[in-house]
Amino acid sequence: MRVLLVYPRFRKLLESRPALATTLNRYGVGRFRTPPALGVPILASLTPQEHEVVAVDANVDPVPYDQPWDLVALSYFTPQATDAHGIGDRFMALGVPVVAGGMHPSSHPADAGLHADAVAVGEAEGLWAQILADVAAGTLRRRYSGMTVPSLAGLPQPRRDVIPHPEAYEWQAGLVQAVRGCPFACEACSLPRLFGCTLRHRPVQDVAADVASIPFPEVYIADDTLMIQTPAMAAYTTELFDALQPLGKSLFVTSTLSLNTDPLLLSTMAAAGVRSLYVVFGFDPVSRKALEVGASRRAWTRAIDLLARVRESGIHVFASFGLGGDWQDPGIFERIVALCRAADLDLAEFFLVTPYPGTPLWERVNEQDRLLGRPWEEFNGAHVVHRPAGMSVEQLDQGFADVWSAFYDGVDPERTLSSLAIRARPA
Ligand code: SF4
Repeated sequence: MRVLLVYPRFRKLLESRPALATTLNRYGVGRFRTPPALGVPILASLTPQEHEVVAVDANVDPVPYDQPWDLVALSYFTPQATDAHGIGDRFMALGVPVVAGGMHPSSHPADAGLHADAVAVGEAEGLWAQILADVAAGTLRRRYSGMTVPSLAGLPQPRRDVIPHPEAYEWQAGLVQAVRGCPFACEACSLPRLFGCTLRHRPVQDVAADVASIPFPEVYIADDTLMIQTPAMAAYTTELFDALQPLGKSLFVTSTLSLNTDPLLLSTMAAAGVRSLYVVFGFDPVSRKALEVGASRRAWTRAIDLLARVRESGIHVFASFGLGGDWQDPGIFERIVALCRAADLDLAEFFLVTPYPGTPLWERVNEQDRLLGRPWEEFNGAHVVHRPAGMSVEQLDQGFADVWSAFYDGVDPERTLSSLAIRARPA
């Protein structure tokens, strides 16, 4: 069969908020897309060689509607759903079978099913072979549901080579996954429901081989569970970074502020090439306590101390603040900038907390009739898509625009970009 895999288009921050460009172009922040997600490369790796696989990144290339396909598979998260659904509709009208999978279809299959012949709910490893067999036999079903795969051992390496044009991305880094599942239940996150509450680790040697195959100097390990404060996770993370150290890559790692700052762990990470730690504020209890109204001196000092420990190990902090959580009031913007100044942070981004389908927040906001009826493409963290509880829509929208300028006022662009391969535009 000829199989087309599609990574649909989504809007980056400055496409959604062009008025921020004057401030942000000097810093490189806000105008880059993260490297393509792993859904399409994983599907390609799971497709037997008897099939011809072509992948298209709709952010870069036109979708080839005029070629003969036996199957089109769309893999997407919610901000891509507007584009994905248009692509699905068009191929269905041409009579080509369309399968939708990934974060959005798994979280909202009824919605995805309006624009595809079949919806895959769950991890591709447990579903894709059956879908291919059913398409070949002409027996495609409307819904495929899989349990999470119990073990990540021995999975084929994602085939990132099927998505061409890495030069089209301002940030040229390879995305790597080491862990699936999360024991926490942050209200605005869909990962525990999609991947389960149990942490599943990829074998260290598999991750190392994956990292070694990436043709860029920078690698983005996109699991904020790596820094969870349990002995088992600390042992895995230490072993992982020991294995990555000889590869000489520049590593970008993510975490919440409820993170393990054991000096030995941090020094192992720094020695392995971890140059940046992307710390998300606003979901975990440590960062919420430091930023809520009337935060205690203790909570504030603790947050600053944790950030200082990361920086003292030689790892640059890239802070990321969720805005519009129900616990926040209009004073949150000022409190965030004050915390950033006190911690001497020079790199931050801000996003609007978004009720993604499949999250507890989505359910609550729906029950309370607080969605504003915005299209999926605006669920990209740059638009207010639901009424917040602690301020008006207008206050949140204006505060989001203003906090970028307030943070970057006086920050040296050279410091900001010191740890990332994202380049600023000439002033
Ligand atoms: S935001 Fe991070 S820590 Fe919270 S549930 Fe999601 S993956 Fe887990």
